[in-house]
Amino acid sequence: MIGYIVHRSHNNQELQCMDNVPTNMKRVNSFQRFMNRRAAANGRYQPTCYEHAANCYTHALLIVPAFIGMALLYRLSDDGWERVTAWVYGTGLCALFLVSTVFHIVTWKKSHMREIEHCFHMCDRVVIYFFIAASYTPWLNLRELGPLAAHMRWFVWLMAAAGTIYVFNYHERYKLVELAFYLTMGFFPALVVTSMNNTDGLQELAWGGLIYCLGVFFFKCDGVIPFAHAIWHVFVALAAAVHYYAIWKYLYRSPAADVIRDV
Ligand SMILES: [Zn+2]
Repeated sequence: MIGYIVHRSHNNQELQCMDNVPTNMKRVNSFQRFMNRRAAANGRYQPTCYEHAANCYTHALLIVPAFIGMALLYRLSDDGWERVTAWVYGTGLCALFLVSTVFHIVTWKKSHMREIEHCFHMCDRVVIYFFIAASYTPWLNLRELGPLAAHMRWFVWLMAAAGTIYVFNYHERYKLVELAFYLTMGFFPALVVTSMNNTDGLQELAWGGLIYCLGVFFFKCDGVIPFAHAIWHVFVALAAAVHYYAIWKYLYRSPAADVIRDV
């Protein structure tokens, strides 16, 4: 018999971590005891407490590096525009890991507080839209763009706001639509960025984008691959690190950065 209890109360959640499930109810593969059954369509997957812990730690460990990264870019800034850009990008980076960590802690430890958990789940989804906008901001703000392409500077934030409105109205209702929105927002501004005259750093940007896309595979594998969500977190962290490296190297560290000051 493959499956066992999926919807457990908060109190008996610990039982499974202690491997206290009757032998005939355990999964055949011992590795699979780290994972629960796949959720029903439009239902939410219930992680095991091993998975809960992994979900928390994989993003919690990145909060401090994200703040240090923001401070470093701020210090490397040569003018006010670079400082504002460092602050916006850094805030998006820190907010992503901070909100994700708090959400996963609440889901793990306070899942009985439904309203609060629901609220943090929405924040976790909303922050992704703002993180994508923030990730493009250094490229859009600090590289020279054509008159039409320059509109992307505000349009990414409009898309983030639209995504937020969507989350507040249709949270968890149409999961594939939500995924399509994230992918659209992730790739649409790239059309502008890749059309810039200065192509330094685009290779790293593309690598980061590819890592995010590979991670989406795991994002969709809860209940199929143990620790799928934590693996998704690791892909997010790797992609964010690659993008940070490119921003640091080509837009802040490089004295040849073609900073625009006419905005
Ligand atoms: Zn997560």
